Amino acid sequence: MAVSSVSKIDEEILPVKLVIPSTIVAACLLIALYNFELTFTRNLDFVLATSFSWITLSMLYLLPKRWLFQSRSVYLSAFHIVLSLVLIFITPINSAVIYMWAPLLFMSDYYYQVRGLWLSASLLFIVLLTSNWYQLPVFDRNAILTIIFQFVVIVTASFIISKMTFGDRSERRKLDSQYVEAEYEHDRLLSLINTMADAVIATDQQGKITTYNAAALDLLNTNKTLINSPIEDILKLTDANGEPIKLMQLASKTQFLERRTDISMPVSDSDNINLDISISRIAPSMLKSEQQGFTFLLRDITERKSLEEERDLFISEVSHELRTPITISEGDMSMAVLLAGKPKPDVAQIKASIKKAHEQVVYLGDMVNDLSALSRAQLENKGMEVVSFKITDVIDELMQTYRPQAEAKGLYFKTDVTPNIPAITTSKLYFKEIMQNFITNAIKYTKKGGVVIKAQSVDRDNVMLSVIDTGAGIARSEQNKVYQKFWRSEDPYTRSTSGTGLGLFITAKLAHRLGGYLMLESEIKKGSTFSIVLPVMAFREVDRGSVAKNEVANLFN
Ligand code: ADP
Repeated sequence: MAVSSVSKIDEEILPVKLVIPSTIVAACLLIALYNFELTFTRNLDFVLATSFSWITLSMLYLLPKRWLFQSRSVYLSAFHIVLSLVLIFITPINSAVIYMWAPLLFMSDYYYQVRGLWLSASLLFIVLLTSNWYQLPVFDRNAILTIIFQFVVIVTASFIISKMTFGDRSERRKLDSQYVEAEYEHDRLLSLINTMADAVIATDQQGKITTYNAAALDLLNTNKTLINSPIEDILKLTDANGEPIKLMQLASKTQFLERRTDISMPVSDSDNINLDISISRIAPSMLKSEQQGFTFLLRDITERKSLEEERDLFISEVSHELRTPITISEGDMSMAVLLAGKPKPDVAQIKASIKKAHEQVVYLGDMVNDLSALSRAQLENKGMEVVSFKITDVIDELMQTYRPQAEAKGLYFKTDVTPNIPAITTSKLYFKEIMQNFITNAIKYTKKGGVVIKAQSVDRDNVMLSVIDTGAGIARSEQNKVYQKFWRSEDPYTRSTSGTGLGLFITAKLAHRLGGYLMLESEIKKGSTFSIVLPVMAFREVDRGSVAKNEVANLFN
């Protein structure tokens, strides 16, 4: 809108009302002067040709604007040139035609202010001198004085008339252009506000909405106009204690800027969203009190809040999980010190206490390892290195690493890999970490029998890797809990082994990152099969952007 106003001014040419009559009058005057033998020209053709070209020029204004070169400077220059030629070559010195320069001065002043006036006046002076020199080769003092006199009269008269007529017009043009600029600024700000992700609502002093942006409509889930609606009817807010908030009361207390992050807004009977609200006062001193008001900037921080809550919960759970082994090992160590201080220390008891303390320290080490794996999973997602590798190569590596552990427990440790299983393109690091968690659990929770690593193709795009054990198994009712953080079965055998309850939680996160999913089949006391189905090409179907976006959120789900 603002841009089109600017170009409208640029396109504007000399107004038809001004040009057509003045040029026709000028041409008629020229012919009349000739008729009354006042022009003293020696050539009728010259007079007619000049009048005709002048009239034609003015008639051009009647043609549709788009057919013409639309520049008033071109027209104004054309008129100057025609009149200059007439004055030099047709009319004699001191002819009355010279006063026809006055409208040109007038128009130059109108469009180009003083600059235009002086340009036109300078040209007039040059034309007068040239015509004098052309028509009177001998220097004539009187002729020169007459020229100067005429020049001064024409210019002064035009200047005075122009000032009287347009004096305030140039002021108005200045104001107009300032208005256009302000309008442009206003539009620019509006489009800026409209592209903002945060909701912006402006009100007057009484709280009636005067402006809002698209994000405000989104937040309020409406497409009705909000103009003139009281903001308190539109935004029904409550504080952290569920007490209703009087928004205008809060706003009226605002000196400069007030920010609240403890505010929620109901979006349905059961759902609330958390808002971060900044209120600022619009009160420049030059505005009248009824023009003053407030702006409200609203940001939906529900996700951030719930993430923060999840994180706080996670930290408190982690510190609880850490505190327990620290307390136990501290107790065991104190006991060992106490026993050692006895006159006849019981070495076996001391050893037992130290062993228990050592177990707790090992547990703490495991916990720290798991936590760092978790944070690594979170950090490394961005630059996760996706490579192509043979599944059999990784299985061979894992076999070599874990066979001693399995054999030490008297378990068999085998593989069952479908021939021609395809190479996969994914994060080798995450893939190995997932398989390691399955295998270490299988060995840990199996007393008799053994463990099999199975790899098979599901279809052209997916492979399935399973770790099958003949161990403790997991009750059906507990199977959906295994991926929860810190969950460990109550089974006495499980409890007799050390574990953090974080391994499968991390595994589930990593599987999700790779675009895969986990499956569990288990029967108590018979054994478990933990499987992961993975796309052969990680991220072919998965949108990396949304994975990255949800990564933090997913970590704590
Ligand atoms: P951790 O093994 O450190 O306790 P995990 O997250 O790896 O933590 O496993 C969570 C729980 O799931 C284990 O404590 C155990 O009760 C159960 N579990 C995991 N794998 C097996 C398995 N192969 N056989 C029986 N129970 C298992």
